[in-house]
Amino acid sequence: MNIFCTTYDLKLHHPFNVSYARTPSGSAHVRKVVFAHIEQEGITGTGEASPSKRYNETAETVQEFVTSFNTSVLPPLEDKSAFLSAIESHAPASTAAKCVLDMAWHDWWCKKNNILLGAYLAGEKLPLIGTDMTSFTIGIDELDVIEQKVHEAVQYPILKVKLGTDNDEKIIETIRKTTNKVLRVDANEGWKTKEDALKKIEWLATQNVELIEQPLPAERDTEMPWLKERSPLPLFADESCGRLASIERCAEGFHGINVKLMKSTGIAEAVRMIRRARELGMKIMIGCFIETSLAVTAAAHLAKYCDYADLDGAALCENDPYIGATIAKGKLIVPERVGIGVLWRG
Ligand code: MG
Repeated sequence: MNIFCTTYDLKLHHPFNVSYARTPSGSAHVRKVVFAHIEQEGITGTGEASPSKRYNETAETVQEFVTSFNTSVLPPLEDKSAFLSAIESHAPASTAAKCVLDMAWHDWWCKKNNILLGAYLAGEKLPLIGTDMTSFTIGIDELDVIEQKVHEAVQYPILKVKLGTDNDEKIIETIRKTTNKVLRVDANEGWKTKEDALKKIEWLATQNVELIEQPLPAERDTEMPWLKERSPLPLFADESCGRLASIERCAEGFHGINVKLMKSTGIAEAVRMIRRARELGMKIMIGCFIETSLAVTAAAHLAKYCDYADLDGAALCENDPYIGATIAKGKLIVPERVGIGVLWRG
């Protein structure tokens, strides 16, 4: 078994600004992603990590994690639970770093067995009550740029709008001058008090907004049950929802969770999270970071088990090196190729 890493500079069409991370004007809009490749018997499985500073990961920490394994003592790839347990026990945090190997393993396993990732996931028997429609994200920007972005997003029937600024009402009013499309709002922890958040949500409920993501900072989760009781719109946990262990707490303060492979440590735990959230009667969104079509396609295979999809990570980029899931008028089209199902475009 060989395991090795490569990196890739993913360039964005626009700087990607959320409430806690603004790209300084004039700087390059580049995200460094890491690919891990697991090779055995002439078959190569590939996974992706899109490390985020918000979760204390960088391309360097991911590479260090992946290259620190001694492949001669790792369990065989054929033994799924032993192999993935070895990855899990290697370091406590590092969720994107674990994801890159989990994803590479799933790609390898499906290729080895000549099946699509979708067919493999069907074996998990999750309730088939999901979606094939994705939203498209409008990041924080000057109002004239936001207007331009809304025009560029003409093919998408659902927009996800980043708020959590001093300018939130103006942003929504600018978008509403152009379109009546359904909006989903992501405050990215940007509203500082529960009272302020409630006021914003009550107003947003009059603006054809469908749901609210992460209104308060994750460290204020204890205030979320107060907000959940009063909010006229469903509340989704993103930064408050990392791995499986966080779901029970999220159920107290949120109506739903945003599952992302980079936070969950990959596909295997995302499946466990979807199952648990369903048991708790929660709504589920499948989301992504800024990622290539490799990681986005892996997540797209899970959309049919989730109520909402926000899988525009590759669509926000101008040099996506993979051909994978595509989006047509907001509808996700998952490729029918073995493994995760992507092709290297280069
Ligand atoms: Mg979010």
